[in-house]
Amino acid sequence: MRLVILGGPGSGKGTQGKQLCNKLGIPWISTGDIFRAAIAQNSELGVKSAPYVERGELVPDAIAIELIRERLVQPDTANGWLLDGYPRTAFQAEELDFLLDDLRGRLNWAIWLDVPEPVLIDRSLGRSRSDDRLDIIRRRIELFHERTIPMMDYYEPREKLLRINGNQPPEAVQQDILAAL
Ligand code: ADP
Repeated sequence: MRLVILGGPGSGKGTQGKQLCNKLGIPWISTGDIFRAAIAQNSELGVKSAPYVERGELVPDAIAIELIRERLVQPDTANGWLLDGYPRTAFQAEELDFLLDDLRGRLNWAIWLDVPEPVLIDRSLGRSRSDDRLDIIRRRIELFHERTIPMMDYYEPREKLLRINGNQPPEAVQQDILAAL
């Protein structure tokens, strides 16, 4: 199964995505996690992405696309994957489809965890990541509206979008996702 999970910062993408991957036996691929790990290691990718991640800005598409191109040819992806945090822009969504054409695969579903904005802010403030300061969270939510929500218009007409109410207890969200798949 090839899945993407979408939602604002604090929407529960990571929590739900990891659980779903355990159930389905597919790898969880979080671009946010990969960038944070690269920054902690001070690798080349880390140095390139740090100025964006630390300010809550999007890393340039070219960097994100290259990262995904390299990741989706690793051997553990043979039975599918779940992407958390990618795509984040309509351009990235298109690029993913081009990549899938090359790999002769197709996306099964884009899962959208729909959560009201005040809840996103509360949840993000409850974590203590360095990119979870109020001003940075606000910027990430703004970018979510500007860049990621329009991407739903890419998946919806292709009948790939599963809209899930993410404002419920985690078990209920997981159940709704499993029922929808
Ligand atoms: P959250 O789940 O809270 O929205 P993530 O962990 O997915 O946050 O991402 C953290 C940061 O990593 C983003 O604010 C952004 O700077 C960068 N990032 C992650 N994925 C992408 C992507 N696909 N394109 C551009 N930037 C990205």
